[in-house]
Amino acid sequence: MTGQIKCRLCLDQVYNMKNMLLFPTLSGVDLTIPESISAFFGIKVDKKDIYSKMICANCLSVIELIHMYRKKFRSHQDHLIAIVKTETEDENEKSFAEYQNVNRFL
Ligand SMILES: [Zn+2]
Repeated sequence: MTGQIKCRLCLDQVYNMKNMLLFPTLSGVDLTIPESISAFFGIKVDKKDIYSKMICANCLSVIELIHMYRKKFRSHQDHLIAIVKTETEDENEKSFAEYQNVNRFL
């Protein structure tokens, strides 16, 4: 390392950086910045490691974007599961009604 402070992810040296251990939270999401980096990229940021704890605004934007899509895709999955569940329940109710109708004539 050259001693210059660089972004932990892109390794660029930019002015607009933030210490992700001192300011770990992201607004509106359930993971901290280090937790997000670990979950999305498999990179562990630990206070005991010797590497930079700084993150630049560009990389932070990427993480926020992934969070936005994560939230969106998860809500789509919940919606999809709810639709399939309703359709399956409707099918089951229909089948049961047909079963009852058939039995009535036996
Ligand atoms: Zn960066």
